[in-house]
Amino acid sequence: MPAEPFGDRLGRVRASMDDRGLDVLLLSVGADLPWACGYEAMPLERLTMLVVPVDGDATLVVPALEAPRVMERPGVFRLRPWGETEDPVALVHRLCGAAGSLAVGDRTWTRFLLGLQRLRPAAAWSPASEVTGPLRAVKDDHEVAALRRAAVAADRVADQLRRGEVPLVGRTEAEVSAELGRRLVAEGHERVNFAIVASGPHAASPHHEPGRRVIGADEVVLCDFGGTMADDHGVGYCSDITRCVWTGGPPADAAEVYGVLMAAQAAAVAAATVGTTCEAVDAAARAVIEAAGYGERFVHRTGHGIGVEEHEDPYVVAGNATPLRPGHAFSIEPGIYLPDRYGFRLEDIVVATAAGPDPLNRVGHDLALVA
Ligand code: ZN
Ligand code: ZN
Ligand code: ZN
Repeated sequence: MPAEPFGDRLGRVRASMDDRGLDVLLLSVGADLPWACGYEAMPLERLTMLVVPVDGDATLVVPALEAPRVMERPGVFRLRPWGETEDPVALVHRLCGAAGSLAVGDRTWTRFLLGLQRLRPAAAWSPASEVTGPLRAVKDDHEVAALRRAAVAADRVADQLRRGEVPLVGRTEAEVSAELGRRLVAEGHERVNFAIVASGPHAASPHHEPGRRVIGADEVVLCDFGGTMADDHGVGYCSDITRCVWTGGPPADAAEVYGVLMAAQAAAVAAATVGTTCEAVDAAARAVIEAAGYGERFVHRTGHGIGVEEHEDPYVVAGNATPLRPGHAFSIEPGIYLPDRYGFRLEDIVVATAAGPDPLNRVGHDLALVA
C-alpha cells in the first residue's frame, strides 16, 4: 500500500475539476477536507480552507493558532497560517487568482462564502460535493482497510451483546446505550456517533431515541450503533451495525418475522455485485419481505454509503440507478416494523469488489437469545 493516499485523491479531484471546467476547489469544515488532505478542521469562527487550483499547488489556509495541529504533507499542500490581524477571506481570494469557476465545500460557513462572492462578483459557483461525492463513494485500499478495522471493532461489541455480556433486563435503554458506546471506545473507536437501543414495542420505531424504558424479559432489544475510528493516517472512518437480541425465547411469530428479515438481508448482500444498480440491491431485500407479506412494514431504504461520514453516497434506494463499482462501501439494513408489538433490523457494511460483495461485519446474524 502506498504510504499516503492524499496525493492520489487530489489527483482524482483535479481530473474531475478539469472535466467540469472548474478552476479552483475550496474545502473548509466538513468531511471532504480530511479525506482530501488528512486534516480535519475544527468548526471554528476562524477560517480554515484548502485551496486547490486545477493545475497548481494546493494551499491549506489555517488560523495560526491551529497550525501546530496540522501534519504538513509536502507535495500535497503547502501551509499558509494566517495571523489575527489578517483577513483570511482576502487571502483565499488572492490564492484563487483569476479563477472564474469555483467549487466550494457544502458545509462552508455562509459568512465566508458570502465574503468571497462579494470579492468575485462575476465568478460562477458550484457545490464541491459534485466533485468529491462520487470520488469519496469509491473507496481506495486505505479506506477499505480502515472501514474493515472499524467494522471488526463494532463486531466485537455486537458479539459481546449477543453473548449476553451486556446486561439488559432491568436496565434502561439509555443505560445500555451508554454501555455500548463505552465498549465501542474500548475496542478502538475515537468517537461514538450513535447507539440506538430500542426495546419491545419501541423497536417498531426505526430511529427510536433510547430512553427511560426499562428492558423486560421476553422481548426484543434492537441495537444499532457506530462510531469513528482513525485510520493509519489519522482520518476517521465510520462503523455502523445493527443486531437484535431477544431476552428469553421469542414467540413463534417473531421468530418467523426475523427469519424473513435474515433472508432479505442475505439476498441484498448477495445482490450487491459490481454492475448491479443500487435500486436493484434495494429491490432484492424488498422482494423477500414483500413475498412474506410484510412489504408495508419495511418503511425505509435498504442502505447508505459510509466512509468518513456515517451517511454518504451511494444510497441503496429505489430511484438510484447508479451501478455499483469496486470500492463502493454501503450498509445493507432492511427492517420489519410491527407497530405496538416489536421490530427488527439487521445491518452489515458491505464493499463491492470484482470478486463479489465483501461483508465487513461477520458477527452472527441470527436472533441471539440472551438472559
Ligand atoms: Zn494507509
Ligand atoms: Zn445503523
Ligand atoms: Zn446504517
